[in-house]
Amino acid sequence: MIATEKSGERSQTAPARPAAPGATATRGVAILGSTGSIGTTALRVLARQSHRFHVAALTAFSNAALLREQADQFSPGFVGLVGDQLKATDEAGGKDWGCGAGCLVEAATRPDADVVSNAVVGAAGLDATLAALGAGKRVALANKETLVMAGELVAEAARLGGGELVPVDSEHSAILQCIAGRPATEIGRVVLTASGGPFRGWSRDRLERATLADALQHPTWRMGRKITVDSATLANKALEVIEAHFLFGLPYERIEVVVHPQSVVHSFVEFVDGSVLAQLGVPSMELPVLYALTHPDRVADTGVPPFDPVELSPLTFERVRATDFPALALGVEAGRRGGAAPAVFNAANEQAVAMFLEGRVAFMDIPRLIESALEAHGGLRAGDRAEVLTADAAARRHVAERARR
Ligand code: NAD
Ligand code: MG
Repeated sequence: MIATEKSGERSQTAPARPAAPGATATRGVAILGSTGSIGTTALRVLARQSHRFHVAALTAFSNAALLREQADQFSPGFVGLVGDQLKATDEAGGKDWGCGAGCLVEAATRPDADVVSNAVVGAAGLDATLAALGAGKRVALANKETLVMAGELVAEAARLGGGELVPVDSEHSAILQCIAGRPATEIGRVVLTASGGPFRGWSRDRLERATLADALQHPTWRMGRKITVDSATLANKALEVIEAHFLFGLPYERIEVVVHPQSVVHSFVEFVDGSVLAQLGVPSMELPVLYALTHPDRVADTGVPPFDPVELSPLTFERVRATDFPALALGVEAGRRGGAAPAVFNAANEQAVAMFLEGRVAFMDIPRLIESALEAHGGLRAGDRAEVLTADAAARRHVAERARR
């Protein structure tokens, strides 16, 4: 299991800053994608936990004004604006901001960053995850696409570099909390919960006519646009099944999905003796973001509203409508197939979702385009980073060309 390998050693890591007399040293956190939904949540958590953590680095893609505000508030040692050199110079206010894709790796490998919170969306986060793990850091991973496209390479980077991967995804955080250090041999299976997204009760006919505005109306979570669409197609749950496979070392037949519209039970773990544990709470990413920083410890925090089971009831569960939401089965099958198939699934999905967000393809074209890309390129190899990126590029090209017809 990647997630807990080094957990017992966490407190032995050297503190990032020398402690002033009488004060406790704080651990440095680099936040990649600090202007996004998870990134801003992470900064709220860090603001409450400033006696434990300080912000070592911040990066964003293009929202220079928000990045500037965050930099002024948290005074990180490094700030990087990936997508816009001009803005990086203008907004930096005389300071030296990094620019270009390389600044993700630069932020992720800063000596004063003990933890790298990877909250970038999509394959763009891969090199930073690999570099941080290679440099022996804890990666608090929201950027699930990284693990899906290159699970073996990510595991190898952790093994060689001594880094540690801890999930931010609420389902995987729940599983990690339920497992609580028990060995993999004691886990029977895990059941990931899925809200079902905005189209849970929709007929197939109606799904064919679903608009972008419909898809962006998630019933229980407020998130970035890409993951919101992934939640509507259930591609997100496929990414999460593959994520669970790599994080917890479980074969696919022991990872299941159940629809749970209230998003209160964050996932279940069934142990080999038949006992089932679940982790519950009001839907909020504050806890998983915090827990990824403090695991296996728990610290006092006020981020999550009080739990009232009566207020949150009833809690209901349904089977997934697999044929109406084909992206789930396509992704799980790609995971089972291995090689470059998960990278092709992920890249085809990213490309198809980007085109759906631009109004260039219909909602149900997303799984059709993924299936077509998997047929064409799912057999590619993924033995190293170059092969993974080749498969990623082939899938994106395939989807772009196919959608144009
Ligand atoms: P978002 O779109 O709100 O934010 C994405 C962040 O990444 C932004 O700061 C953006 O500037 C940056 N970014 C985008 N493209 C980039 C690129 N090419 N290079 C560098 N930086 C780039 O997305 P989000 O909802 O915060 O999701 C981030 C990740 O967390 C995704 O992988 C998502 O699946 C995962 N996740 C999100 C949630 C949630 O509640 N939002 C829950 C679980 C997992
Ligand atoms: Mg999730």
